[in-house]
Amino acid sequence: MSLQLFDSHSHIQMSQFDADRTSALARSRDAGLIGQLVLGTDVASSESAVALAEAETDVYAAAGCHPHDAKDMDETSLARLRTLAEDPRVNVVGEIGLDFYRNLSPHDVQIEVLNRQLETAAEVAKPVSLHGREAHEALFPFIEKWSLRMGGKLPDGRPMGVMHYFDGNIDLARRYIDLGFLISIHCSVTYPKAATLQQVAAELPLDVLVVETDSPYGPPQSQRGQRNEPAYVTEAVVKIAQLRGEKIERVAEVTTQNALRLLGVSSGQPTLATAERGAS
Ligand SMILES: [Zn+2]
Repeated sequence: MSLQLFDSHSHIQMSQFDADRTSALARSRDAGLIGQLVLGTDVASSESAVALAEAETDVYAAAGCHPHDAKDMDETSLARLRTLAEDPRVNVVGEIGLDFYRNLSPHDVQIEVLNRQLETAAEVAKPVSLHGREAHEALFPFIEKWSLRMGGKLPDGRPMGVMHYFDGNIDLARRYIDLGFLISIHCSVTYPKAATLQQVAAELPLDVLVVETDSPYGPPQSQRGQRNEPAYVTEAVVKIAQLRGEKIERVAEVTTQNALRLLGVSSGQPTLATAERGAS
């Protein structure tokens, strides 16, 4: 079975991978990943995401400040993130958003840092990767206003962004899709109690879905208690295919194309071209 997979959200630049980052990347390739988007959560991790993207052709970078880290931002660090967002090696502004579950930064500070980065994304015309945890009532109106102002798509026609680790129900998912967003299905879709997420994964059109691991966090059911890594995105794809009654290869192919479309990467990139030559 030759799959083409894309992990739309990882943090493989983080210290949890310092001992085996190269072999984790090799395992992801063995599993069929043609790429992964590595997200920053603050200035330092955004810079290391860019450095990794520079070094590895199948790593793409996002620069941004996570809501947990919003309390540590100042004008200098926001300006640095703005400069990184302009960098051609950065495909996405993220991870940004609101987290009213862990509340590691005050709500008003999270909102200020979110809106500053939405402005950045608009200015550089790049999509956002949005984190929303127990915060959609506050988050949605900001995203709605931002998206409507931009006409629901980026100037080059790309989606406005992706709802990372989507945790809402299918009605909320459809409201974000109407604003030009993709919905990312995390590998927690494999958990026995993930009925709401499983319904989202089963019923939305495939052309709005991407998949992710959020490595090193949130391993799939088969790896509970372990560190997560990008290779395990396969388990999300297998589960989604089973829920939808579709072929695994098709779910892999379409979610990968959706991720490449979001990033503005043509599907003629080297790894894909090699795979196509191999098939013909
Ligand atoms: Zn993340």
